[in-house]
Amino acid sequence: MSLELLNSLPLIDPFGRTVDYVRVSVTDRCNLRCTYCMSEEMRFLPRRDLLTLEELDRLCAAFVRRGVKHLRLTGGEPLTRKGIMDLVRGLSRHLQSGALEELTLTTNGVRLAEFAQGLAEAGVRRVNVSLDSLDRATFARIARADRLAQVLDGIAAAQAAGLKVKINTVALKNDNEAEIPRLIQWAHAGGMDISLIETMPMGAVDEDRTDQFLSLTALREQMRSYWTLSDLPERTGGPSRYVRVAQTGGRLGFITPLTHNFCDTCSRVRVTCTGTLFLCLGQEAAMDLRGPLRASDAALHAAIDKAIAAKPKAHDFLLPVPGARPAVARHMSVTGG
Ligand code: SAM
Ligand code: SF4
Repeated sequence: MSLELLNSLPLIDPFGRTVDYVRVSVTDRCNLRCTYCMSEEMRFLPRRDLLTLEELDRLCAAFVRRGVKHLRLTGGEPLTRKGIMDLVRGLSRHLQSGALEELTLTTNGVRLAEFAQGLAEAGVRRVNVSLDSLDRATFARIARADRLAQVLDGIAAAQAAGLKVKINTVALKNDNEAEIPRLIQWAHAGGMDISLIETMPMGAVDEDRTDQFLSLTALREQMRSYWTLSDLPERTGGPSRYVRVAQTGGRLGFITPLTHNFCDTCSRVRVTCTGTLFLCLGQEAAMDLRGPLRASDAALHAAIDKAIAAKPKAHDFLLPVPGARPAVARHMSVTGG
């Protein structure tokens, strides 16, 4: 088989799973410091270690060539990366050609008002916005920054630009547990899906995550006492399971990597802003793509093939043990969730 042909073969791992979804972290920096994600005094990577925008573009193009249909830009906060719109506009050529089905973004929304229109014009149809509280003081405590108003403006601007917004909320026992039903009602009233996320033991933070851990399996059972939840068949190739809430008419997702095994249908891999390919959110299995990327396209494709052949079957997050070290040393802001 010619090299040309080899480099356009789909990515199928040893367990028969086709990898068609890539999350790319474009920066490890952020304009918030969410307590479950970062420590207050985070040390970020030197800028010279980051892939350039051109390299990010080439990397994404290589994955698209290998049959990747869904690209999600994340971070850190992707909208703080200088030149992010150049990257988005460049990647939109794959949407126009039909090779890519979807280009999306996960953002904290702080700068979304500025970028919403441009994102929509570049062909982005959906964005995920992380929002853990609608109460200004609670938001400020969790995010360590008083930015709720900007996030709400960002969401409004995104909707006005025609983007579909999904809300992601990390369920935190002491911080927002009591507020979760209200958040769900608010999201659904605004025509948005919402997913709840369990805290994952990734990277050292200042607090003990076992104090914050809230089991979504238990929360869902509790919700059944006041709402009618019907299971939906949608699967996204990730750890989400969806239900319809009869009383609000909206969709509610549960992202439960700790209490639920989702690995059997995993179709995704993640690339950090320094070009390391992580094959599983909950494992250290990784491959450097920056070196091969800087060498040649052929070297890049060979490295991607080698990595996919080593995609782990499943993660091994354990249920939280008080005082235990994180299961995975890297922060979520490295791989972008
Ligand atoms: N800054 C953007 C944002 O917050 O949406 C994108 C990157 S952020 C790392 C992606 C998602 O990961 C967010 O929804 C965030 O709430 C979630 N996240 C971060 N650390 C987490 C952790 N330890 N456990 C569970 N979710 C986490
Ligand atoms: Fe920043 Fe997102 Fe992490 Fe919050 S969750 S600190 S917004 S990267």
